[in-house]
Amino acid sequence: MSGLMVNTTEGTRTQIDQSAIDALAKGVQGRVLTPGADGYDAARTIWNAMVDRRPGLIVQCSCAEDIVAGVTFAKAHGLLLAVKGGGHNIGGFAVCDGGMMLDLSPMKSVEVDPQSRTATVQPGATLAEVDAATQAHALALPVGINSTTGIAGLTLGGGFGWTSRKFGLTIDNLLSADVVTAEGGTVHASTLENPDLYWGLRGGGGNFGVVSSFKFALHPLGPEVLSGLVVHPFDEALGLLRFYRDFAETLPDDVSVWVVMRKAPPLPFLPQEWHFKNVLIFAAMCTGDMANGEQALEPLRRHGSPIVDVIGPHSFVGWQQAFDPLLTPGMRNYWKSCDFTALPDGLLETLVGAAGSMPGPHFEIFLGQLGGAISRVPASETAYRDRSLRYMMNVHGRWDAASDDVANTAWSRQLYEAAAPFSTGGGYVNFMTEEESGRIQSIYGDSYQRLVDLKRKYDPMNLFRLNQNIKP
Ligand SMILES: Cc1cc2nc3c(=O)[nH]c(=O)nc-3n(C[C@H](O)[C@H](O)[C@H](O)COP(=O)(O)OP(=O)(O)OC[C@H]3O[C@@H](n4cnc5c(N)ncnc54)[C@H](O)[C@@H]3O)c2cc1C
Repeated sequence: MSGLMVNTTEGTRTQIDQSAIDALAKGVQGRVLTPGADGYDAARTIWNAMVDRRPGLIVQCSCAEDIVAGVTFAKAHGLLLAVKGGGHNIGGFAVCDGGMMLDLSPMKSVEVDPQSRTATVQPGATLAEVDAATQAHALALPVGINSTTGIAGLTLGGGFGWTSRKFGLTIDNLLSADVVTAEGGTVHASTLENPDLYWGLRGGGGNFGVVSSFKFALHPLGPEVLSGLVVHPFDEALGLLRFYRDFAETLPDDVSVWVVMRKAPPLPFLPQEWHFKNVLIFAAMCTGDMANGEQALEPLRRHGSPIVDVIGPHSFVGWQQAFDPLLTPGMRNYWKSCDFTALPDGLLETLVGAAGSMPGPHFEIFLGQLGGAISRVPASETAYRDRSLRYMMNVHGRWDAASDDVANTAWSRQLYEAAAPFSTGGGYVNFMTEEESGRIQSIYGDSYQRLVDLKRKYDPMNLFRLNQNIKP
């Protein structure tokens, strides 16, 4: 009898009869794809080209019932199971070699209720799709800064972006979720129903089940916001960072300023002589009144001798996509990230030293500004742990050729190791590679045992293991 060999959670391979695959395909509204099928390669391709894996079987889900069918099938056959939302996770957990993949990317509906200021979002939606639907009502959800990222993975790990200092993390705005559990049942999680699961979903990643629907609270914003970049020559980086350290602490929650050090991309507003030269960029956005934002940003815009200053009113949707051209899918990427509560001189000197010797034109060192509303949520309220941090560094290693993998990952690691003594020791699961799984217990700190207990309750056999895994 014909069939497929598929990898199991035990690391073995199991034969699945064609009749079982046909029955699965018949039972779902979406598609079941096997290697070689039309759409198979597109479904298994994720943002980070360093991850090139070939699942034995892909179920493309169109609805919650398809997720139930897929999870039930994986459990019945003991299959290794990967779950793909937007496919952006740097660790590549969305796809596995030889096992089964649930591809949720066709589930893209975003329904906004302007009266209650809420949105019900399916797990395949990207941030661009969330922004488009919410901004149609001049509402917004705090999400990340690259619009092709998936809402599902972003939310389950925490989620922060330009509006988080004002509105909190994405999870701080999660009202409820529908979850398909390892048993193949569907449960609702909110403050009233399954509050333990609701706690764990907010920062605990995809460990406890597959979310088929998220309900979020929204905030009035836009359609225009004060936002933009101030670009400086890199020669002045150390002084600029020292200025930033003091300036950032004066900012109201309405305003966020992030720092990017990289080679200047050939953007039309940058004079040509600066293209591909090292620069330091202040990227700013104000969630509130533009006049107040202008006032708050004035010292930044007056400081030093910038190459250009393009801060002004921009559409919020446009600003949310401003960095997309620098973060396109298909390149090789390796990240290292650290959390900081302060920016002492030693750290700034380390960052400037590294930024001056970045190995390629697409590398960048990002310093995101957090704090504000994020820090006012008690740490025990959600599984997301480190709310004390004020800055998060992400070393974006990014390049074309596989032959550069070893040298470029080593460069990123070296910078991380040099910066780590200045960090809180915390970490963001959404920025961590597969090799960092050993840090999970320390990152979750006091919450770790509670997460283990929750895992034992909802997924004792660890069906959902392709993530920053909480072992039952
Ligand atoms: C260019 C870029 C910019 C980024 N910027 C930011 C930023 O500004 N702020 C920020 O907070 N993060 C940011 N991130 C990180 C981002 O939050 C993570 O990469 C996140 O995991 C992406 O979610 P996804 O659905 O696209 O990923 P996927 O790779 O599809 O999934 C990530 C993880 O979530 C699990 N998962 C996905 N969907 C579900 C579901 N429905 N139910 C259960 N588990 C599920 C997957 O199994 C996997 O383990 C950025 C990432 C990239 C690549």
